[in-house]
Amino acid sequence: MKQEALTRWTCDQAAELYGIRNWGSGYFDISPDGDVVVRPRGKDGDISVRILDLIKELRDRNLDMPVMIRFADILASQLDYLYHSFESGIREANYRGIYRGVFPIKVNQQCDVVTDIVRLGRKYNHGLEAGSKAEFFVAASLLDDPEALLICNGYKDEEYIDLALRSLKIGLNVVLVIEMPSELPLIMERARRLKVRPNLGVRAKLASRSGGHWDDSGGDRGKFGMDSTQICTLIDRLREHNMLDCLQLLHYHLGSQIVDIRRVRNAVREASRIYVGLVREGAAMGKINVGGGLAVDYDGSHTNFASSRNYSTPEYAADVVEGIMNVCDDAGIEHPMIVSESGRATVSHHGVLVFNILHTRKFEPPGIPSELPEDCNEMVVNLMECSKGLTPRNVQEMYHDAVYYRDEIRVRFLHGDASLRERSLAETIFWHVIYRIWNIIKNQKYIPDEMEGLGTALADLYYGNFSVFQSMPDAWAIDQLFPVMPIHRHKERPKQQAVLADITCDSDGKLDTFIDLHDVKHTLPLHTLNDDEYYLGAFLVGAYQEAIGDMHNLLGNTNVLHVRLDENGQVEFANEIAGDSVTEVLSYAEYNCRDMMRRIRSMAESAVKEGRISGKEKGRTLKTFEAGLRGYTYFER
Ligand SMILES: *Cc1c(COP(=O)(O)O)cnc(C)c1O
Repeated sequence: MKQEALTRWTCDQAAELYGIRNWGSGYFDISPDGDVVVRPRGKDGDISVRILDLIKELRDRNLDMPVMIRFADILASQLDYLYHSFESGIREANYRGIYRGVFPIKVNQQCDVVTDIVRLGRKYNHGLEAGSKAEFFVAASLLDDPEALLICNGYKDEEYIDLALRSLKIGLNVVLVIEMPSELPLIMERARRLKVRPNLGVRAKLASRSGGHWDDSGGDRGKFGMDSTQICTLIDRLREHNMLDCLQLLHYHLGSQIVDIRRVRNAVREASRIYVGLVREGAAMGKINVGGGLAVDYDGSHTNFASSRNYSTPEYAADVVEGIMNVCDDAGIEHPMIVSESGRATVSHHGVLVFNILHTRKFEPPGIPSELPEDCNEMVVNLMECSKGLTPRNVQEMYHDAVYYRDEIRVRFLHGDASLRERSLAETIFWHVIYRIWNIIKNQKYIPDEMEGLGTALADLYYGNFSVFQSMPDAWAIDQLFPVMPIHRHKERPKQQAVLADITCDSDGKLDTFIDLHDVKHTLPLHTLNDDEYYLGAFLVGAYQEAIGDMHNLLGNTNVLHVRLDENGQVEFANEIAGDSVTEVLSYAEYNCRDMMRRIRSMAESAVKEGRISGKEKGRTLKTFEAGLRGYTYFER
């Protein structure tokens, strides 16, 4: 500890502590001034933007925290990276087909995001994937490139099929992917009515598994996709109706965030064999769609840990290309166009959630009396003995004793055999002992499992102005990790060990697991609060988090800032979108704010009649309520 205080703290140490150069993919770093900077064009780009400067400008424009900042140029860079990876994979293998991607809208449905993807992806003829009618509307209205694919997945009713077929007729490159046998008769019947030959795909259910959180969506048990028998039946139906030329694409989707490259390879091989089978049956084919699953290295460890991946995008692309090529060459058939539906890998990096810390609750080691009162409960006396007898050599034993006596005093309290004061004294001594135990063991290489939780129990609580449920729902739902760190003050050593709590009153509304190169950390090193605002960023939150956020505690959408660089490399605020007001959030839950105000008004009126408040006060009360309804749902300063 002493030595730590003497050595200087550098930005490089901060970068290492938070792993920003491991997970940042060159887009995020710490400047020599100790601020987090964004390099929207990647590490080789010459432009860097301080997040703190963006926040200052937002404050000037009256946009409060929390804010989701989206960097359009990161999106552009990620698309370039995906295409360059596939293009070099194709070149190096001498593959005789092209790559063309589509963006699955469900990964981030926000209008600005999908619009940007279409605009930035135009030079690659990048397409869109829709999984429902509403998403189909988004795709059909935004895509204006007849080369770009519009892939239709998901349940399809007559209306969805008609929308797809009519869009095909007006010039969109629509492929209807058949997910289950019952869809074919409906599609054939609608196509006959509308006099159009559909472009069809078939989704295969593979035996290969993804091995990730979403393992169930691929594999034999997946709810979508057809097994080999169903595919053969489909082929027979198509042949009967002279429609084998309509079947153009084989699709599969193993699941998202596939962390192990071996799973990717096994699936590609299995799917390629199915592809060959379809060609041999006489289907037109020409496209193989490998779905999503390209993972993001959230913790920067480059391993097959759930929040990481043990491969790079170029390696993924090369393995997909080679996997398809080997099987096709072996069978002597033409190389198909390769399609992928990478969502997470395209949009994760471009979204950063910034929030301020409202206050902290520090763990203060309790002081204990030097003498115990006479006739004190025996358990209190025992705890005091623990405290006096604690040495670095008997920590584990003293830990067991302290926990035992603390539990025992609680039992006695329940039976009326210990007073409230005795219980309080016992707990004070207990925490004093625990605090000392933690200080002895915390820097040890090996901490016994049973004591690992002590760090979290003694951590400082930092209250952040955000909602986990709204802005990082996967952190709560599936324990996904996102890198979280201060966006400034990196020239200072962070001296606190903290757990983050959000402003919902839900006990799950917290972050107490953090990324680490080895396994995970249970506390996050943070700086001591001073008089200035303290800002944290949650990074890589551009995929899935906005789409499935819920209205926990009626905290709604956050403010959004859409940033892009102009021709001169200057930051431009392309769009600011105010988050939900209280009225909006209430209306989602079907409340009528006029009715609510009417009720408040009549209560206030009665209060005036009964002389509890003045008429003037009534006016102020109503103003306060009305302003509150127009306001932001988060904490406003
Ligand atoms: C969700 C989904 C994707 C996106 O997967 P990522 O892992 O985010 O790339 C692609 N295709 C289908 C069919 C999906 O359901």
